[in-house]
Amino acid sequence: MIRQTIKRAVYGMTILLLLFTLVPAVPSYAAGRAQDIGDTLVVVIDAGHGGENLGAKDYGPLEKDLTLVTAKAMYEELLKYDGVTVFMTRTDDTDLSLEQRAQFAADMGADFLFSIHYNASESHKQYGSEVLVSTQAPYNAYGYQFGSIALSNLTSMGLYNRGVKAKEGNQGDYYGLMREASKRKVPSCIIEHCYLDMDSDKAYADSTEDLQAFGRMDAKSVAQYFGLKSTTLGVDYSGTTYPEVNASKVVPVTKSDGSGPDTLEISLWNNNPSTGDVTVAVHGFDANAAILYYEYSLDGGITYTPFYKWPNADALNNNNDNDFTISFQMPDGASAAFVVRAYNIFDEVTASNLLDLNTQVLATEYQQGKAVTPVVNTEPVMTESPTPDWSPSNATYENADDPTTWSEDTDTTTPTTQPHTGKKTTNVWIPVLLLAGISLIIVLLLVLVIRLFLLEHRR
Ligand SMILES: [Zn+2]
Repeated sequence: MIRQTIKRAVYGMTILLLLFTLVPAVPSYAAGRAQDIGDTLVVVIDAGHGGENLGAKDYGPLEKDLTLVTAKAMYEELLKYDGVTVFMTRTDDTDLSLEQRAQFAADMGADFLFSIHYNASESHKQYGSEVLVSTQAPYNAYGYQFGSIALSNLTSMGLYNRGVKAKEGNQGDYYGLMREASKRKVPSCIIEHCYLDMDSDKAYADSTEDLQAFGRMDAKSVAQYFGLKSTTLGVDYSGTTYPEVNASKVVPVTKSDGSGPDTLEISLWNNNPSTGDVTVAVHGFDANAAILYYEYSLDGGITYTPFYKWPNADALNNNNDNDFTISFQMPDGASAAFVVRAYNIFDEVTASNLLDLNTQVLATEYQQGKAVTPVVNTEPVMTESPTPDWSPSNATYENADDPTTWSEDTDTTTPTTQPHTGKKTTNVWIPVLLLAGISLIIVLLLVLVIRLFLLEHRR
C-alpha cells in the first residue's frame, strides 16, 4: 500500500513538472520585453542622411545636420548608463548607403540600430512624431515595444502621436534601413521626431538645445526599453513595463489595410437661425487604424482647413472617439457645401458625404424642429470658427507654412455625449487555441500516466 501511495505521488509530481516545463514553451502574451539581449548590450546610433544626401532641405537647416546634433547628444547621454556599448554610424558630414549603415551595425554586434530623422510631408499639413519599424518578425515586435516607449516620451514633450508603423515593399521592407538591417538580423527602427515643414512642430527643433533635448530623450527611451540603470543620472529603468506583443507575429496595429477610415458620415446636429450657430455631427470609424486628423471644407472640397486632431486618437492601440461635433456661425444669407475628410495613422484618407447648408434651409429645418436636439447639446461644443470671410477664395488654410497658431485650437474640440457605435474587432481565437492546445497536452499526459499506472498494477 505504502509503495503504491509513493508511486501515485511520484506520478502526480511528474505530471506537475511536465506541465510547468510545457507552459512557458507556448508562445505567451506575458508583459515584458520580447527581445532577449544576452550578456552584453550594444547600441548603434545612426544619424540619418549626410554628405550629398541632405534629407529634408527646404525648411531652414538641412535634415542631415539636425540628425547629427541629435545623434551625438543621444550618444553622450547613453554613455552615462551602466553596461552599454554605443557606436555611431557617422560622426561627421559623410554619406553612407543604407547597406553600409546596416552592415556597420551588424559588424559591431548591435542589439539595436536606431536611426535619427526629421520629417516633412507632401501636403505640408501633417504634424507629430512616429517610429518606423520592420515588417519582419520578430523585429517588428521589438520595434513596436521600443516605439511605444519612445512615442510616449516624445508626446510627453507635447508632440502628437502618429504611431509605430511598418510598410511592405517589393523585397520585404519598403524602408531600406529596416530591409538591410533585418537581412543582417539586426533589430532597427527610424525615429521621425517632428515635421520641419510645420511651424507648430518645428518649434521643437529650432535650436541646438532643442535638437540635443531630442537626443537625450531618445537615450532615455533606449534605457527604458533595455531596462538600464545609471549611477551618474541616479535612475533605474529595470522595472519598465512593455505593451504586450507576440514576437513571432507582426503587431497588427503596425500595418495598414491600404484604405482610409471605413466610415465617415456627417449630419446637421443643431442650428439656431437667430444666432447663426450651426453644429454638424461627425461619425467616423476605422477597424484597422486609429483616425488621427480631420479637416473640413466649406466650398465642397476645393479648399480645406488645416489638420485638426481627431478626438482621443490613440495611435498605439487603435482607438479614437467615433462621434464628435463641429460648431460654427453662419452669417445670415450665407451658404456652405460642408465636407469633412479624415486621415488614419497611415495617412490614408476618407471623405464624408456633402452637407448643403444655407441659412434659408436651416431656418426652415429649425422651424420644423428637424435638426434640433437641445437635450444632448446642453454642454458647450467646439468653438472653432471657419474662415472669417465666407468667400472660399479667402481661405488661407492651404499654405501650411504660414505662421499660424491653429494647432492650439484643436484641443477645444468637445466630444458630445452621443453613444459610440463603432466596434473594434479583437482576435479571440489566439487565447482559445492556446487553451485548447494546453488542454490537449494535459489529457494526453493523463492518459499516458493512467496507462502506465494500470500496467504497473497488472504486474
Ligand atoms: Zn530623413
